[in-house]
Amino acid sequence: MNGRGLERRLAPGELARSSYATLDLYEPGRAPVALDLSDNTNLAGVPPAASRLLAELTRPENAAVITRYPSLWAAELKEAVADYLGVPAASVATGCGSDDVLDSAVRAFSEPGERLAFPDPTFAMLPHLAATNALAPIAVPLTGSGLDVDVDGLLGAHARITYVCTPNNPTGTLAGGDAIDALLARADGLVIVDQAYAEYQGVQDGAPALARRAAVDGRLLVVRTLSKAFGLAGLRVGYAVGTPELVAAVDKSRGPYKIGRLAERVAVLALTEDRAWVQARAREVVEARGRFERELARMGRRPIPSEANFVLVPVEDAAAAGAALRARGIGVRPFRAAPGIGDALRISMAPWSILEPTLPVMTEVLRCAS
Ligand SMILES: *Cc1c(COP(=O)(O)O)cnc(C)c1O
Repeated sequence: MNGRGLERRLAPGELARSSYATLDLYEPGRAPVALDLSDNTNLAGVPPAASRLLAELTRPENAAVITRYPSLWAAELKEAVADYLGVPAASVATGCGSDDVLDSAVRAFSEPGERLAFPDPTFAMLPHLAATNALAPIAVPLTGSGLDVDVDGLLGAHARITYVCTPNNPTGTLAGGDAIDALLARADGLVIVDQAYAEYQGVQDGAPALARRAAVDGRLLVVRTLSKAFGLAGLRVGYAVGTPELVAAVDKSRGPYKIGRLAERVAVLALTEDRAWVQARAREVVEARGRFERELARMGRRPIPSEANFVLVPVEDAAAAGAALRARGIGVRPFRAAPGIGDALRISMAPWSILEPTLPVMTEVLRCAS
């Protein structure tokens, strides 16, 4: 017989993977609130072409969109992503949100007990993905006043998978091109670059080029999402770009039927016909971010310069400040004792017409005593 048999009958409390005993459900604390600035989704709404199609697809004559299974591997979505980024469709994997793509990739490219290295702080799902996939998490603090990726620290982990997020959640800072070059040149295993916020990053900063590089660099997987700038978080659509070999491994790990038919149809249209809308809204958010950062400075705060649709603002007590804002109807994401930063609030950016009315409350809660 193959595999390892049990040596004794397990108690019900022992049936789950042993590492799950100390693992909490992912729960970032998002109780309903009048204005939710906690999750970096697009507060300008659903893109127009996507919105029109959604209304059409929910009519009774389109019932098959709901009653029938979707396509196995979301081939049309792969084509649409490929066209959006200028890569071959064989270089695109998709998933139920980029969380699912990341989870599939982590499972595909590592064995239990190996290492998953990532900067700290970064996307809160990383330690969680390490735990659910029985990997050892290696958190490497960002370094210096620029909160740079510690390339030597990450390489020193000799991890099976090295993850970098750029612009980074929650700091909004970029991993420099040099850092990514060095990781690709010297990492022992796979390098995953999460570009969830690429649409907010200046074009000259190389975001599209990195996705195209992933199509030919056999060590690089770029992961992106339609949950942020594209305004489709509720439909759960994410994707990865890599060589056809890497993409095939992600697809094996992911399994079939992960993109719902409704989600695929709407995502394809958004990627094709809503690009200009997405770009225009992203530009507005970048401009609103500049104004909001200046307002924070006026309150005596020093927000970390951001390249994404959120800002991270160091505060004395994130839990207290977050609760005070929440009590006044504004949800933000508190971070406790982040390496190199301390306590901080991550505040999602939005059209200025949404942010401006928050300024009296922000001032009341955030103004420095001095
Ligand atoms: C929001 C976010 C995602 C997106 O997750 P989805 O599952 O696609 O909604 C991925 N990575 C980072 C860093 C994020 O902030």
